[in-house]
This record gives sequence, structure tokens and C-alpha cells, in this order.
Amino acid sequence: MSQKNIYGGLEGGGTKFACVVAYGPDEIIDETRFPTTTPEETIAKAITFFKRHAIAAIGLAPFGPLDLNPASPTYGHITATPKPGWTGANICEQFRRAFDIPIACELDVGAAAFGEYYWRPENRRLDSLVYFTIGTGIGAGIIANRRLVHGLVHPEAGHFRIPHDWTVDPYAGNCPFHGDCFEGLACGPAISQRWGQSADKLTDEHPAWELEAAYIASALTSVICILSPQRIVLGGGVMQRKQLFPAIRHKVQELLNGYIPSPVIMERMDEYIVPPGLGHRSGVLGAVALAKVLIE
Ligand code: ADP
Ligand code: ZN
Repeated sequence: MSQKNIYGGLEGGGTKFACVVAYGPDEIIDETRFPTTTPEETIAKAITFFKRHAIAAIGLAPFGPLDLNPASPTYGHITATPKPGWTGANICEQFRRAFDIPIACELDVGAAAFGEYYWRPENRRLDSLVYFTIGTGIGAGIIANRRLVHGLVHPEAGHFRIPHDWTVDPYAGNCPFHGDCFEGLACGPAISQRWGQSADKLTDEHPAWELEAAYIASALTSVICILSPQRIVLGGGVMQRKQLFPAIRHKVQELLNGYIPSPVIMERMDEYIVPPGLGHRSGVLGAVALAKVLIE
């Protein structure tokens, strides 16, 4: 009788690394989290953790920007990150040297999109899904035709332009590259800087949330018009503010103004724009799923 495989999954964030060893979301065997320090120390810790288990494959999902082009000489490298010491870090290569098993490499938010798609039965029926994280930064993983979208590089859907009315919101945005792109206007640190108080400390009644919902709705409206995804999952620290969900759904409907002839958008918005089914584990369990599909 063949034994069931166990898989490793790693989500490498700018502030912490999360690692799991699991059969799947309901059968997690071991799990750890530790702060992101230097690449040497952090990657060594992760390798030591996975070495304790007889895993069949590993999925790695570090923060980006990440070179995911297998033909590139810098494949697997973290490219120009503002995170000190991490530009040029190559988690994938170091794992390949340490383990003689298949290794998948994907951007953290791509893995999160794949995790939500692969493990959640309500998503698995779909062909397309977009996962946004709205946290320290903004990024998206895009599933189209049941596959993660990669192109020139990976999608950078946190950095497109959205309308910015300077009379309503004189804040210039905090993106070091674009100022008032979507991330520059709507990520957690932008909310904190605009209002002079940490985003997680603002009251639920604060006007910050209406503006935040408007920016997110504006971005999602473009995404819906361009990609026509069958579901949009919104994760990340800022989306812990649950009141944003109904506000965003309502504003998306308002902005689309009846133009998209889908009953999901007309009548079932609460099934269309949703929180992550895997909670805070979308990324790490997505990495597990990417490992699993490598050897299936
Ligand atoms: P990261 O993006 O670094 O992986 P998170 O997704 O947890 O981390 O996002 C962190 C950001 O989310 C911070 O800017 C923080 O202020 C914001 N945040 C965390 N919790 C809340 C909350 N309850 N309400 C609003 N913003 C929050
Ligand atoms: Zn930007």
C-alpha cells in the first residue's frame, strides 16, 4: 500500500517566516514561525525545521519581488527589495542544495492565491480567482484558467494607478516608486501616515475606513473589468477590519453601475468578495499545495 506523502510549505515574509509540514490544511503535523533577520540565519532556521521531517516535496513562497523566470540567470533571487540584506537572496537555491526532493518556488501572494484556490472546495470549482493582500504592502496572486499567472515577471497588482482626488485626500501616498499608486494610497502604513495613528489602533468609526473601502473598491473594479475573475479574496492585516467587506462590496456595485451582467455581482456580492477561507495560513498552505502538485 502506498503511504500518504507529507509536504513542507514556507511563507517568507518581510517580518516573519512561517513553515508548516502537513498533508493538507486539516492535517498539519508541525508548524513554526520566527522573525525575519538576516538571510543566512533565517534560511538556516527554516532548513533545520524541515530536516526534522521525511517530506516528499517543499513549496517555498518568499516575499518579492522574485525572479520566477527559469531561463533567467537570477532565477529564484529576491530582486530589488528595500529590505536590508535581502536583495539577491536566493532561498530556492539554498533549499535545492540542502534537500534532494522536488522544490516549488513562488511569490508569497501567488502561493496564497493558489492555497485558497486549491484547498477550498468552493474555489476549486472555479477557473479564476484573484487574491489580494492588503497589509504592509499590497500585492495580488492571480489564478486564470486554473493556473497562476506569470508573465514578464509576476503580477504587481499593488502598483497600478487608481483615481486620487487630492481635494478629498491630500495625502501624497507612500510608494517609494510611484507615490500614490494603489499600495501608496491604501496599504497599512499609508493609512497610519495619513491619519497620524497606527491603522490597527483607529476606531471602527474613523473616516479612514470609508476612504480605504473606496480605494480598494476602485482597484477591484479595474481588476473585475480586466480579468473578470470568478472570485476575489481579500487578506492581509488591514482586512481584519471586517466592516471593510460590506463597504467594498457596495462601492464595487456602485462603480460598476450594473454593467457586468453576472448574478454574482448583481445579487451575491457576499460570495464574490470574501475573506480568506484559510485564515492567516493561505500563503503557507498554498506553498504546501504547490509542493503537492509538483509530484502528483
Ligand atoms: P505583512 O503585510 O507585513 O505580512 P500584515 O498582513 O499583518 O503583515 O499587515 C500589517 C499591516 O496591517 C500593518 O500596517 C497594520 O497596521 C495593519 N493592520 C493590522 N491589523 C489591523 C487592523 N485590525 N485594522 C487595520 N489595520 C490593521
Ligand atoms: Zn507603487
